Amino acid sequence: MTVLAIDIGGTKFAAALVGTDGALRARTELPVGPSPTDTLHRLVSGSGHARDLSGIGIGAAGPIDVLRGEVSPINIPGWRGFPVVDAVKQVLPGLPVTLAGDAQCMALGEWWRGGRAEHSLLGIVVSTGIGGGLILDGHLYLGSAGNAGHIGHVIIDRDGEPCPCGGTGCLETIASGPSMVRWALAQGWVPTEAVDARTLAVDASKGADIPRAAFRRAGKALGVAIVSTAALLDVHHVVIGGGVSAVGDLLLRPIREAAAVWGGSQTLHTVTITATSLHRDAGLYGAAALALTEGGQSLLRPGPA
Ligand SMILES: [Zn+2]
Repeated sequence: MTVLAIDIGGTKFAAALVGTDGALRARTELPVGPSPTDTLHRLVSGSGHARDLSGIGIGAAGPIDVLRGEVSPINIPGWRGFPVVDAVKQVLPGLPVTLAGDAQCMALGEWWRGGRAEHSLLGIVVSTGIGGGLILDGHLYLGSAGNAGHIGHVIIDRDGEPCPCGGTGCLETIASGPSMVRWALAQGWVPTEAVDARTLAVDASKGADIPRAAFRRAGKALGVAIVSTAALLDVHHVVIGGGVSAVGDLLLRPIREAAAVWGGSQTLHTVTITATSLHRDAGLYGAAALALTEGGQSLLRPGPA
């Protein structure tokens, strides 16, 4: 059995054919381009000649509406309420199509192919925004509208900054890449290159005080959100992915320190926090797992990629 896995990001689309053995074949990646709909059609039709294709799984940048099969990726202004499931079905009719959020697919991919055969798992994507996904009791937990696990909008500071979601003091207002950059600039940071999170990381790794403080502040907020989530759901394993997490210990160390300080009970001190092992393919593996099981993820046996 082979499925088509599709990962829809803000700047690129990726697709691959994946079998039940977890092998990733014919991986293709295209920039979103001026017409994201055309890009999607090219990507899907290019994979449609695969024999014994039994389903399609899609992980998409949010917000998404799994009930309607629609996506509204913030970085693709032309897609608001875009019927991605119907669009894919038009190119490859007759196949079941399953949709979930990109961070949910990252969590599912890590659970299946990242060597994380745990009972439960929280996956967090730290990037332009902050997303998340939950594996509970061996199943991807989607929630009533399909947006469960969205840890970026857990409130960390009730007197904090307004968030694009309409809330106040969300984790994303402190720990996303652009939020870290904004805070560092307000503290007087003078970027050595571009005004972005990548340069912030470069400057921090060279020992600059304000960029280092920005990562400590973000890590502290993430650590607090993680122990709160762990307390609520009894999840003991956390995997961090996304572009900003590529800095490694610069972000991971303050997250772990905060989790140790604010995690009150004995149980919370056992929470493990690690970086993604699948990097940018975690979402593709997760989208494949969606399609292979149509929601029944416990049918798959976790194992290393
Ligand atoms: Zn928010």
